[in-house]
Amino acid sequence: MSSQIVPFGKYQGKKFVEVPISYLRWFRDQDWAEKWKDLYDYTEDVLRAETERKLKAFQNAGIWMMSPAHQKLLWSLWRNACDAQMWRSPACTLEEVEQHRKRVTLEVFGSPRSWKSINQKEEFDKLKSRLELLAGKVQGGIEDGHREYGDQRRLLWKFHEVQYKCVALYMPSPDKYLDRLLKERFKVVRDWTCIEDLDARPTIRTRKDGTAYEASDLLLFIETLDARINVMRNAAGDTIHEMKIKAGAPCVCVECKKSNTGDPF
Ligand SMILES: [Zn+2]
Repeated sequence: MSSQIVPFGKYQGKKFVEVPISYLRWFRDQDWAEKWKDLYDYTEDVLRAETERKLKAFQNAGIWMMSPAHQKLLWSLWRNACDAQMWRSPACTLEEVEQHRKRVTLEVFGSPRSWKSINQKEEFDKLKSRLELLAGKVQGGIEDGHREYGDQRRLLWKFHEVQYKCVALYMPSPDKYLDRLLKERFKVVRDWTCIEDLDARPTIRTRKDGTAYEASDLLLFIETLDARINVMRNAAGDTIHEMKIKAGAPCVCVECKKSNTGDPF
């Protein structure tokens, strides 16, 4: 695929492999990108590989995959679990406590894992549910095995703390804009404050080309809004980092991660 020729635009006539990654990133954010299916698929592959490379570099450097806020929450959940299970001195030595932690981690993931390598999405949710269960919290018990509850919480947080602020940065009346998007695309007739009502359970859907995928209404809404925000951001000439800082939303780019900001999940 990398030796195919770009059929349009600034790099017309060049091989895919000759197109700089900055252009590929820009291209992927365009509304019409999926029309150029070969280049779009190639772009997805290249950007996915780049993300994986970055994550590997993070891991090799011994940097936590999850944000500092996630880490804090995890350790406090672990302390609660230890209290409830009596994994404390004098009943347990420090080494025994550490063995309990490794065993619980092994049970959750099916293989030994360093907590540094755990991502802050479904892996974090899984471990969190188990620790809450150990600490005797019913909520964790309900969530154990019900991934959609974790997804819903994270997606709603993203909407309120990031997306809404970004829409407000670029749109004079964000509420009207969001109402319209919900009505047109999701047939929700009340105002945007009812996005909590969107179904967070994944269902099987089909793309225009007939292939199947799994997504919830809520996820589709958040992704649609992401794409719209990208278009607004590009029109304004902002980077993602610039947009989030201007909007007052938390940024999780590599630079910001280093300086200890991050979302709380
Ligand atoms: Zn940033």
